[in-house]
Amino acid sequence: MAKDFLKGAREHYDVVVIGSGLAGLTSANVLARQGYRVLLLEHHYQLGGMATWFKRSGGHIFDISLHGFPVGMIKSCRKYWTKEIADSIVPLRGIRFENPQFSLRTTFTREDFTRIMTQHFGITEATVERFFDTARGMNFFDDQSRTTRELFEEFFPGRDDVVRMLMEPITYANGSTLEDPAITYGIVFSNFMHKGVYTFEGGTDALVGKMKDEMLRNGVDIRIRTLVEQIEVSPDRRVTGVVVNGRRIGCSAVVSNANVKSTILNLVGEQHFDPQFVEATRAVRLNNSSCQVYLALRPGQGFDENVGDLLFHSEHTGFDIASMLSRRISSRTFSFYYPRTRPGSDRWLVVSSTNANYSDWAGLGDEDYEVAKAELIESTLNCLEQYIPDIRQKLDHVEASTPRTFEHYTRHLSGASFGTKFEGLQVSRELPEQVAGLFHAGSVGIIMSGWLGAVNYGVIVSNDVDKFLTPANTAQMSSTG
Ligand SMILES: Cc1cc2nc3c(=O)[nH]c(=O)nc-3n(C[C@H](O)[C@H](O)[C@H](O)COP(=O)(O)OP(=O)(O)OC[C@H]3O[C@@H](n4cnc5c(N)ncnc54)[C@H](O)[C@@H]3O)c2cc1C
Repeated sequence: MAKDFLKGAREHYDVVVIGSGLAGLTSANVLARQGYRVLLLEHHYQLGGMATWFKRSGGHIFDISLHGFPVGMIKSCRKYWTKEIADSIVPLRGIRFENPQFSLRTTFTREDFTRIMTQHFGITEATVERFFDTARGMNFFDDQSRTTRELFEEFFPGRDDVVRMLMEPITYANGSTLEDPAITYGIVFSNFMHKGVYTFEGGTDALVGKMKDEMLRNGVDIRIRTLVEQIEVSPDRRVTGVVVNGRRIGCSAVVSNANVKSTILNLVGEQHFDPQFVEATRAVRLNNSSCQVYLALRPGQGFDENVGDLLFHSEHTGFDIASMLSRRISSRTFSFYYPRTRPGSDRWLVVSSTNANYSDWAGLGDEDYEVAKAELIESTLNCLEQYIPDIRQKLDHVEASTPRTFEHYTRHLSGASFGTKFEGLQVSRELPEQVAGLFHAGSVGIIMSGWLGAVNYGVIVSNDVDKFLTPANTAQMSSTG
């Protein structure tokens, strides 16, 4: 008989969280800490969503999205998770750019970028200062019509090389382009290029394991292999429950960490929303997807640490989004993992990531798909030989993932790696106005994606849920001003 993954679950919870990405995990933890009865439902056999890892024979462990995140993760993890988690966040030192326009290394701090922009690119210190201050001063309520392209044109007219250095890492981090609103760039850039790039010592499995322990301490009822098929809504537009693995479970509120479009259009159904809201949802553009190649060296075999931690490689002559997404790959980000990533291990690994169009991969027949994956691996190895000449001789395991893989494991429409474009944030925020008790927390709007964006959005939304579930809090807060 099939195992019942909901065995012993209650008939009713205060909050059901659908999905265990970093936003879902954080919402579940914060709400349980406040004393709510929380059920966390995850369709995969592992928690973490895109913050994930997989194991292969021979003891290899690959991280999917542990390339780096901003310093703000330390504060968010200390406040909303545990000190132990925050204490395992460490800086990455070796960040490199290698492309036809420049070859340089940086610590990804404001000081170091100022040095590079003045000494290497000849920009005046006053312009650099003004640019950093402008980016740092941007916030959500600013003019949203100015594009990132226009922002760069104002500060660095005609300087494709400077734009490339400032933009390429952000494009890799969240899929944004020069046509996205400048505020999304300003916010993400300031977060990242402030005090460097950070990683989690011990690997994603250790992080998610610690998060699971903390949720259990706070009383979250965690269920894996549980696919939510429907969010149940009453005729007067209130959330009443969910249908999961064929069973109904009642609840007062739902936090959906599933893709915002599939939450509205598939899990709830458009009949429960105003027609204009459905239209706005349909118009939300998804962000691009990704391809990755995972390479593990034989135990004990390594490479020179001088290769760096994070390498932005491109063969393209200038910064060009279409080329970065193309199946004819000319740009890759390499993450180099040393034994120090997982203290006590003797493994060196490399993960190559590329932004990708879902449409380039979705329509391939089985045979063509396998051929395309083999080509992806081969071209990655050819490229990597420039940095680790004997990589092929040291290799123990290699495999690739594509937009189809991301779609399969996270159920994101079109395998979107970084949620939606900017307009998705407004739809996500307006969800509770359409259906009482229905909230969305997950990568949207560019600024709420990535590890830090997802964690912080999980906190914001759990505060909204708290206000919804205890209206007395809201009344008291407004009366005290
Ligand atoms: C290749 C790649 C590299 C990345 N690198 C970085 C990086 O270096 N730094 C960084 O900060 N960010 C990186 N990111 C982005 C970052 O990982 C994500 O933005 C973040 O983890 C997303 O969190 P989330 O809360 O939005 O949820 P997601 O991770 O999208 O998780 C959603 C969860 O909901 C579950 N779910 C969906 N529907 C259902 C359902 N109906 N029932 C039950 N469960 C459901 C899914 O299984 C999934 O677990 C990367 C992403 C990719 C793909």
